[in-house]
Amino acid sequence: MTLVEYEPFSNFCSILDQICQSKGIEEKMKIVESFWKHVSKVSSLIEIPARYLAPLDSFSILRLLLPELDNERRSFGMKEKGLAELYISVFELEPSSFDAQRLRRWQDPSVQQQPGQIPAIPGSFFSVLETVLRHRCSHTSTLNMSQINEFLDELNTSLERERKKRIFHQLVTKCTLIENIWISRIILKQMHLGLRFENILKWFHPSALEDYRLTHSLRRMCEDCSQPGFFIASQDVVLGQPAAVSLAKRQENLQRIPYLMPDGFFLEPKFDGERLQLHKKGEDIQCFSRNALDTTHLYGPHLKTAILLCVDAQDCVLDGEVLLYNVDKQAFEHFDQIRHYISISKDAKLNENFLITYMIFDVLYVDQNQDVPPSIISFPLETRKEILKGIIRPFHSQIRLVPYKEGCTVEDIKEAMEDFVEQKYEGVVVKNKKRPYLLGERDDEVMIKLKPDYFTGLVQDLDVLILGAFIGRGYSKIARIGKPSHFLIGLLQKDNEEHDKNVEVSWIVIGKVGSGYSYEQLEQLQQKLAPFWKLYDKLAPPEHLKQSLLKADAVPDFWIEPCHSVVLTIHAYEVRPSSIYSGYAVRFPRVAKIRWDKRWYECSTLEELIRSSEPSFAG
Ligand code: ATP
Repeated sequence: MTLVEYEPFSNFCSILDQICQSKGIEEKMKIVESFWKHVSKVSSLIEIPARYLAPLDSFSILRLLLPELDNERRSFGMKEKGLAELYISVFELEPSSFDAQRLRRWQDPSVQQQPGQIPAIPGSFFSVLETVLRHRCSHTSTLNMSQINEFLDELNTSLERERKKRIFHQLVTKCTLIENIWISRIILKQMHLGLRFENILKWFHPSALEDYRLTHSLRRMCEDCSQPGFFIASQDVVLGQPAAVSLAKRQENLQRIPYLMPDGFFLEPKFDGERLQLHKKGEDIQCFSRNALDTTHLYGPHLKTAILLCVDAQDCVLDGEVLLYNVDKQAFEHFDQIRHYISISKDAKLNENFLITYMIFDVLYVDQNQDVPPSIISFPLETRKEILKGIIRPFHSQIRLVPYKEGCTVEDIKEAMEDFVEQKYEGVVVKNKKRPYLLGERDDEVMIKLKPDYFTGLVQDLDVLILGAFIGRGYSKIARIGKPSHFLIGLLQKDNEEHDKNVEVSWIVIGKVGSGYSYEQLEQLQQKLAPFWKLYDKLAPPEHLKQSLLKADAVPDFWIEPCHSVVLTIHAYEVRPSSIYSGYAVRFPRVAKIRWDKRWYECSTLEELIRSSEPSFAG
């Protein structure tokens, strides 16, 4: 008999509620500790908490408290949508009923806030679920924590849909409303307790975090930490064992970055793929995911030949991102597509149009020089990059070194961001060039991620007109070689109320936009505009663009008569003075909407742009 078999799940749920409602880490940790005391029946924890409960009890609690760390119950194979369907089926909701619609369209404000209905918070699945289940759940429950774990284990391992439904039915019909909400949170691994798992593990045992990073097993961690005298001195990279990958911290304030990384940084594109740590031992390779899962069976067959050809080291550990390259589109596919294509490809043969590509950005271990230990994570990034260049021969289309720029100022970051976003990458990763590799840590002095959506931006909803187009070139994400993929955008110099009188109007070019739209939207634009493109002759530019001082790299391949063009609503980070356009340029522009409904002369004016972005000039 374990202690958690005596512990009602309802009690644990009210502890979770209390943690959510309390403020600050200290308060929250006090509640965790009081629960530990309660289960172990010890009035004061003078030693480390791991010692007070048997490993199996600690494991049973921690996997319900930190489901995101529980690798024995990895994914339940469903997200909000799947869970909504299970609830609809268990509670026999009529598919067309309001409640079924509510669950299915949990993100839709028009459904969640209808007059005469109890409102739920659109976008919060749990708020919607609570509203729907309010009068449908049992008022009492007798399940203990151990039984909940058994149910969840069964649900997690059952592959067959009907069986899944049966187990789920047995579980949720025995639970109260609050228990159902927490069970859903555990299944979706979205606890939102306001507590980082690092805080809980460090409190649990001084070496718990290190142990978890090495073993990736909560069960093993609980066993190790219950041993008297257990202590992990240091972590390192071991060939054949997944090392905890370094993580990036989000940063909205660009001005802070040079202070956080005063000795300079490397700026790399942020790829939208899947993290891949690759261990090469002689002729063998092993692949591990960001969460230390062995993905050799997925990527090994696709990458092995290329790796053996390109990597000039007997043993090494590489860090990078795996992507699916669409040869036909000359672009990377969305990351969801990687697993899909692998699952449908046979014997490592994808459709000829697709290439699994490994973009390498770091090396953690290399067995080359007998005088130096093979793990090189303590070397600064700039040294690791040099070592990496020395061992990779990037002459295979599947193995590439991640390009990077050097920088030390805010302006360098903005330029890189502009450049990478224009090339349709997800954003920028800023890496401190002087720092060692941080295993499993997220530290803004070491690695920062920036995506355009982090910046609300000063320029909102500006309506611009497409004035020209650039042909897709290079290795960007959705650019299709040979077709327009980026557009020269501009504004009216001033309001043109006389458009119908065919009066000559002046245009102000304010930049280039190449992101924010999907591949399908780009195709629609290409189709609509195709008949009207005219080759841009630098020596005889079109009359309406003459006033714009287009410098060489701003000269488009094609131009279009405004009356045949399309209005785009864009968002941008700021307006800056520019010498390559007509005096002003928008920074990090992205298309928010293609305005098929607006006429060409209904776009914004220069005056409106200046008015809307005054703070950026002041700053
Ligand atoms: P996000 O959800 O923003 O993609 P995340 O939570 O998966 O991020 P983070 O550590 O926050 O992970 O962000 C870093 C991730 O970005 C890495 O795990 C890696 O998969 C991906 N990535 C893409 N390009 C790079 C790059 N050049 N350097 C490092 N990581 C990169």
